[in-house]
Amino acid sequence: MPEQKAPSGSSDSWKGDRWLAALVASASPVSSEPAEIGLIRALLDVIYSKDLIEASRRTLLAAAFDLVVAAEYYSRVAHVGWVYCPDPADSPTIFYPYTNVCPRCVLRGKFVYHKANKPRSGTIGAQAARLLLIFLQELLARKRSGVRVLKGAEPVDAVFVDRSVTPPAVMFAEIKAAPLVTLPLAAGSQPLTVETERGARPSDHRETDFSQLFGASMDLLLPVYNPEIQSWLGRKYILGEKRDEQDTDWAFRALRDLIERDPSFLEAYFRFWEAALHDYGERSRSAIYWLTNACGHPRPRPDDWPRRRTGKGFESVSDSKTSAGMDRTDDLKKATYQALKLGADGKPSRTFAYKVGIISNIHAVRHFEEYLASLKDIIWTRDETGEVTRAGELPPETKLFNLFDGIIALTEIIARDSWVRSTFDF
Ligand SMILES: [Zn+2]
Repeated sequence: MPEQKAPSGSSDSWKGDRWLAALVASASPVSSEPAEIGLIRALLDVIYSKDLIEASRRTLLAAAFDLVVAAEYYSRVAHVGWVYCPDPADSPTIFYPYTNVCPRCVLRGKFVYHKANKPRSGTIGAQAARLLLIFLQELLARKRSGVRVLKGAEPVDAVFVDRSVTPPAVMFAEIKAAPLVTLPLAAGSQPLTVETERGARPSDHRETDFSQLFGASMDLLLPVYNPEIQSWLGRKYILGEKRDEQDTDWAFRALRDLIERDPSFLEAYFRFWEAALHDYGERSRSAIYWLTNACGHPRPRPDDWPRRRTGKGFESVSDSKTSAGMDRTDDLKKATYQALKLGADGKPSRTFAYKVGIISNIHAVRHFEEYLASLKDIIWTRDETGEVTRAGELPPETKLFNLFDGIIALTEIIARDSWVRSTFDF
């Protein structure tokens, strides 16, 4: 077939439109499990039944998303990697933490090292991204939006398509999704058999296997603020049990049951999560701060805190390679390049109202000022003469494009585009 002749002065639009159409065509539905959808809908039902101002609703959405990712983490809970906490003031309990500390002791101001149980980073990123797309799909369906959410093909993470407008709106987005906090699992309401290593005293913390894991009741450890003593206390909520190795959606079902059975859980969880987000942003080093991702090194560092096994220095509680939402400097650099590249390859489009953006669960709480503030208002165009220094020197109909049509998080949104603003208004 002969090459169609491009309209004068916009040869790029034809190349860009073919590229865009091919990527829209190769995007695919997001895979999901009924238990995942069930948990997300139960969470959204609670959030939308509350009379909230928009700002606080968005925070609750991000808090709820952390629980969805937590369910995914809990589905992988193993027999190994538990820490036995002998605390005589409370019943001996074993915990399955997601930062490198005994969670009960850290709430009391004491750092006891224990390696966190996070799934490997490759798996985490892909699962969190998939769950964020399902979460957005459910949010959009709830507001009866006709926008379709699709998983993109390389190099695009996510594709949003809206055929209810003319021309159809298409947004390509880079996904950066990671939880702020994953509550530790706990077990120990029943008598525990804990194998004592030789030489270990019963009063010591130690790593232990949870050999009776399958079929045993597990709890969530949720910090609850007690204003009388002005401190956070760990409260256990019964979660449920993993029946066997194949029972991979147990935590989605168990969390949904917990939410429906005990409304006080979500109330307390939301209060904790908002405080945790605040403390994360301020690097406040409060007791709950040490359960958040990227919280850094313990201060003061206890004498028995371990050195890194490889490399210099000491272990952290959670290092800066771990992120919360899009708030990791490497992620922000990569996402910015992707937005520029996806924009430059596809804009201008004659077929679609084409937009590019970043989507995440949490905005760049710590790094916004340094990494995004100076970029958020950038618009660009092409100048093949290499001579143009003022807009007035361009042909008057020259199109200008946003670097980011949207920097979209559940927590907050920055948009230079009205379709983005209204689509992601939750
Ligand atoms: Zn402990």
